[in-house]
Amino acid sequence: MKYIFITGGVVSSLGKGLTSGALGALLETRNLKVRIQKFDPYLNVDPGMMSPFQHGEVYVLDDGAETDLDLGHYERFTHCKLSKFNSVSSGQIYEHLLQKERRGEFGGTTVQVIPHVTNEIKSKLYAASKDDIDVLITEIGGTAGDIEGLPFLEALRQFALEVGRENVLFVHIALLPYLKAAGELKSKPAQHSVIKLREIGIQPDILICRTEKPINDEMRQKLSLFCNVERKAVIEEMDVEHSIYELPLRLSEEGLDQLVVDKLHINASASDMKPWEDITRKIISPSSGEVKIAVVGKYIDLQDAYKSIYESLAHAGIGNDCSVKVIRLDSEDIEKEGAAKYLSEADGILIPGGFGDRGIKGKILAAQYARENKIPYLGICLGMQITVIEYARNVLGLSDANSTEFDEETKNPVVSIPSDEGMRRGSYECELLDGSLAKQAYGQTIIHERHRNRYEFNNDYRERLESAGLRVASINPKRNFVEIVEVKNHPWMVGVQFHPEFQSKPSKPHPIFCAFVGEALKKASK
Ligand code: GLN
Repeated sequence: MKYIFITGGVVSSLGKGLTSGALGALLETRNLKVRIQKFDPYLNVDPGMMSPFQHGEVYVLDDGAETDLDLGHYERFTHCKLSKFNSVSSGQIYEHLLQKERRGEFGGTTVQVIPHVTNEIKSKLYAASKDDIDVLITEIGGTAGDIEGLPFLEALRQFALEVGRENVLFVHIALLPYLKAAGELKSKPAQHSVIKLREIGIQPDILICRTEKPINDEMRQKLSLFCNVERKAVIEEMDVEHSIYELPLRLSEEGLDQLVVDKLHINASASDMKPWEDITRKIISPSSGEVKIAVVGKYIDLQDAYKSIYESLAHAGIGNDCSVKVIRLDSEDIEKEGAAKYLSEADGILIPGGFGDRGIKGKILAAQYARENKIPYLGICLGMQITVIEYARNVLGLSDANSTEFDEETKNPVVSIPSDEGMRRGSYECELLDGSLAKQAYGQTIIHERHRNRYEFNNDYRERLESAGLRVASINPKRNFVEIVEVKNHPWMVGVQFHPEFQSKPSKPHPIFCAFVGEALKKASK
């Protein structure tokens, strides 16, 4: 069992998560089994309750864990399936530790950061190394030198001592800022971040340099000397030109995977980059033109709030060999100025998930516009509930139809909380019904999809909605929850109660996204 620890230096937002994912992908091209996980030094127990403004998207795993969006990168770049054990925060560590302390498990000793917090952190590493994997990659959130990150770094230092330094690789990712006035890249901040790591006893084995300009030999030599890293272990990671999925190819050209297997003494097969070459080719020069997909949400200005959705659309572009241009629309603008102004150019309309009633009216208008103008439409989670509300109001004629999330008193709660159910989180079985667009897209009957919703389609309205032309395309067999609805008199208008975006990869675009973008492509080429 081998361990790779990824730390970051100089600034946050260096793309450590992407680099970790890409490194995992590279090791998989050599037939190694990898798992990638994240240690986050903040005190929140998990990102489930954090605002998208602060933290971007909450990424949900099969087991229902609400995690950092970097876990999405790990699952998209590799084949690893992650669980709640792969997303560890200081909050969780302390919560667990303090519960033990209250139960008297420390027998009256003083509970301290070293050894108790560090032991708890190490126990997470041992727990994650149990099954059948060759390499465990652990990304440490934050930046070298952060006070709250220190216990994690200290735990890693101890861990390397315990499992043997030859089984551990420290990879440090640092920014080389480019100073326009001087016309050069600067290495000093990276040097200082390595000094921070060395203070705590960690000597990076590999230094990955994030840079907007190529680094020359002189710079490599300088970084090698001052950071005490071998010359060949100074890796350039330039900003990618077209897509994040170029990253495995770029890092392989820099020799990163060879370096890692050499340094960890892994007997791995040669890498097969063909799948990544194909993916990159389809992204850079797609043969089937372009589709414009409007995403109507309320966190539209934030880069990361709908991360997995944007990624899944890009994957569906790969699947259809076309390019997908995303038009991000704020549903409150649509509410103010009408749908036609913003949506007339769209080949497809997507309404993502969400909570609370801000922006709901604009989303309902967008769904109505898609239905009436026969524009391919995908509603996800809240977007599915919007589809149902819009249909009940404008087709069935229940003008006050609503979700009890937005109006507790509504006379026609077409979406409501089932009496005996809390939040549905994680993977649930869905049965696809014959004659549905969804069954055609998946090509199978039983699927498993990840959920994060409290409200459900209200089955009291199922018969009426169905006879008015809303097809129920999938149900949860155990609880009879409606999982997918489709508008019959429409080329492709589908609402899914789950989050297909958490199971799409560039190497395996999700069937629902693929079918949606495929329909949008048909419309675009008309
Ligand atoms: N707010 C809705 C619910 O709780 C939808 C949730 C979502 O879109 N993730 O059911």
